[in-house]
Amino acid sequence: MPIYDYKCDGCGHTFEETRRMADPPLTLCPECQEEKVRKVLSTGGVLGSIKNGEAGGGGPPMPPCAGGGCASGMCGL
Ligand SMILES: [Zn+2]
Repeated sequence: MPIYDYKCDGCGHTFEETRRMADPPLTLCPECQEEKVRKVLSTGGVLGSIKNGEAGGGGPPMPPCAGGGCASGMCGL
């Protein structure tokens, strides 16, 4: 399941959400309750790990940096 990064243009809050393709676009900021949230591009490492997890075939979702080389520092590993 893809994880998207979101950023609020109102208060600058950033967060991650796991979304399905069928879900409506996320626009409401959980911090300031304004509809100023926009999706931002994830890091290459996150996208790569997600692709690897899907290739495994129905296994548990892999943490963003399981493949090593976390460039964002957001995973705490
Ligand atoms: Zn906000």
